[in-house]
Amino acid sequence: MVDYIGMSEIKRIVNKIGVGAFIEHLAEAIEDDYRRWGEFDKMPRTAHHSPEGVIELMPISDGRLYSFKYVNGHPKNTAAGLLTVTAFGVLADVDTGYPLLLSELTLTTALRTAAMSALAARWMARKTSSSMSLIGNGAQSEFQAIAFHRMLGIKELRLFDVDPLATAKLERNLRELPELFDLRIVCCASIAEAAFGADIITTVTADKRNATILTPSMILPGVHINAVGGDCPGKTELHADILTLANARIVVEYEPQSRIEGEIQQLPEDVPTIEFAKVVRGEAAGRETDDEVTIFDSVGFALEDYSALRMLHSLLREYPEIHRQIDLVPRLPDPKDLFGGALGSSAGRRLRLAA
Ligand code: NAD
Repeated sequence: MVDYIGMSEIKRIVNKIGVGAFIEHLAEAIEDDYRRWGEFDKMPRTAHHSPEGVIELMPISDGRLYSFKYVNGHPKNTAAGLLTVTAFGVLADVDTGYPLLLSELTLTTALRTAAMSALAARWMARKTSSSMSLIGNGAQSEFQAIAFHRMLGIKELRLFDVDPLATAKLERNLRELPELFDLRIVCCASIAEAAFGADIITTVTADKRNATILTPSMILPGVHINAVGGDCPGKTELHADILTLANARIVVEYEPQSRIEGEIQQLPEDVPTIEFAKVVRGEAAGRETDDEVTIFDSVGFALEDYSALRMLHSLLREYPEIHRQIDLVPRLPDPKDLFGGALGSSAGRRLRLAA
């Protein structure tokens, strides 16, 4: 039997722990795994592109556990009442190859992306950061807001979306959360207004093109940019000149994948970047001065989903009332008799066919 987490199970787990605490707990798990970066067998994800979107597979293993995520990105889906991003994934035992857990990862991707964003900002943003601009107010946005409030103490959020209904939805959802009672929410009329004066700018828009959400004139010294929405070839959010600002420091998750998918796809290969693992391992600084512009060029890396699946799998043991299993792989008295064990004895089968 294989452990299973569907939408009703993940909802119960997250509600038991609380969204903010879950994100923080997950950020710790992700940080622990980035610290042991060298143990992982890594590769850029494989992507199948179509005119409207992409379907990707994200595998990784540390030699003991293996995981993969199936994820799509289809920015036009929301117009048809569908999510832009959906996902599911598997955690497996390397010794036997048997799957241990099949889990939903749509909600979990939003939680882990927010956890990773806030974790990177903890290392990269100025310690005094108290305001954040949140551009793109769709499915991922509440999770980003909650993560930055909880993990960085953000007290002012400046919102903008080309769709005013998305901003109204985000504001409504955030105002319903008692733990955000001290959060000041400002709805802005333009990206420039939202970005102005913010210590951190998060871009989490969806558009399958080289969009220019932020231009160099919006970037003040010392700001931290958390660029989440550019995550495919030809799908970026930052004007290329932001990446080459003299005082800019760019941190990526896994450079071979980010060169294909991240904001840095706009740069020549020889422009240096820093992998996040180096920052958490103390081999490179996330920020050196208060004037530096730091950029976390997020695309989402398989390690973060591995961390989420590993954490969810152990949480199932803490909550036996939520623990559910499915018969995804056969259990056979004789493992060499898949035919008889899975389909029944030949005599029985003949009888059933005749009936
Ligand atoms: P979504 O479609 O629910 O929301 C995107 C929002 O961006 C929409 O409300 C849309 O109106 C808004 N938008 C589009 N163009 C804009 C513009 N020019 N200015 C302001 N707002 C604009 O999508 P989502 O699930 O919230 O995902 C957002 C993005 O994040 C997607 O591009 C997705 O691929 C990406 N993503 C990245 C990661 C990662 O790890 N880096 C993880 C998940 C999703």
